Amino acid sequence: MDKKEILTWRLSWLLVGAAACLFALSEKHPGFLYGLALGALQITAALLPPSFWEGRVLRRLFVYLTSLLLSWVWFALRQTYLGERVYESFLSPILFLPVGTALFLDRPREALILIFAIFLPISGVILRGEPLKLAYHLVQLAGWVALSLAAWLLFRFLRHQREAFLQQEEELKRLEREYRLLKDRLARAEYLAITDPLTELYNLRYFEQVLEGWLRELRPASRLSLLMVDIDYFKEINDTFGHQVGNKVLVEVAGLLKRHVREKDVVARYGGEEFALLLLGADRYKAQQVAERIRNAVASSVFALDMGFKVRLTVSIGIASWPEDAHDQRELIQRADRALYIAKSSGRNMICSSGGEEADATLPK
Ligand code: GH3
Ligand code: MG
Ligand code: MG
Repeated sequence: MDKKEILTWRLSWLLVGAAACLFALSEKHPGFLYGLALGALQITAALLPPSFWEGRVLRRLFVYLTSLLLSWVWFALRQTYLGERVYESFLSPILFLPVGTALFLDRPREALILIFAIFLPISGVILRGEPLKLAYHLVQLAGWVALSLAAWLLFRFLRHQREAFLQQEEELKRLEREYRLLKDRLARAEYLAITDPLTELYNLRYFEQVLEGWLRELRPASRLSLLMVDIDYFKEINDTFGHQVGNKVLVEVAGLLKRHVREKDVVARYGGEEFALLLLGADRYKAQQVAERIRNAVASSVFALDMGFKVRLTVSIGIASWPEDAHDQRELIQRADRALYIAKSSGRNMICSSGGEEADATLPK
């Protein structure tokens, strides 16, 4: 509870207590003592320190139950003593309805005017000129004023609470929207940071990151192969068909490479027209099979068709496998590079596996 809340709480109890005392004093029957006791209890509760209200539930229960008990006894005695005039106790709350409405609409002044408008004529009718009765009724009126103020305070408090809650809800929704937007932007930034913009394959940074991670986490019995794929005489494609067609060919080769490996394998653009494929769990034999499929597929495909060209090309592939060819990441890449170099210098459109010191190139069948 904050300070304002506690203040509202205490003021309400104080006013309700005052109202109970005033109502009790406005009655002549002996039951009014219970009303006074009720008022005194409520005023005392209002004066208790906040720690009392925030502390043990038993203490609060004691105050609630005692005030309920006193109210019941008071009302029961009131019924007994007032006899046939008991309808008045029903009449008051009904007449008080417009007052309650004014309070609910946060119009305390209107409520006060209504109280006078309701009670003065009634008092006039009931009093029939008896001055003592008038005094009693004025005290009762004061009780109603106190009760109205208490109700107004509580209504206002509840309204503020509701407004604050709605505001918080609005703020929460705004934050949620912002959070989603930032999350999307972050995902986009992360995607861009690891993606090659032309081919939409992974970029070199991501490739190195993944390779390092895999080599760190692989168990001794695990296998991994690296394929370095380079397009043969790509410069000539650029020179003959133009750079735009060259770009289209790169995109199509990238798509072909992705289609020839599994979901968990990594296909990255290593450099200009060079690609690196990480095949997790693939030994040299398996890697050679995949490389052969890729080499065949490229050699039998026609590229840049939808641009109105028929570009044919071949690739050379170098393979290095872990753990047999290398001890670390650098060595694995060097070995694959070296194998690719041998495939190139042996005539291109070839696959070469790094096999210890000697690398043997596979000629196309
Ligand atoms: P080799 O068979 O020895 O690999 O010959 P090559 O012509 O493929 O190799 P080289 O390294 O001589 O030329 C690679 C060419 O790739 C040169 C460069 O202009 C081109 N290239 C690099 N990046 C891009 C690109 O993003 N788009 C296009 N269209 N061409 C690119
Ligand atoms: Mg090349
Ligand atoms: Mg190259």
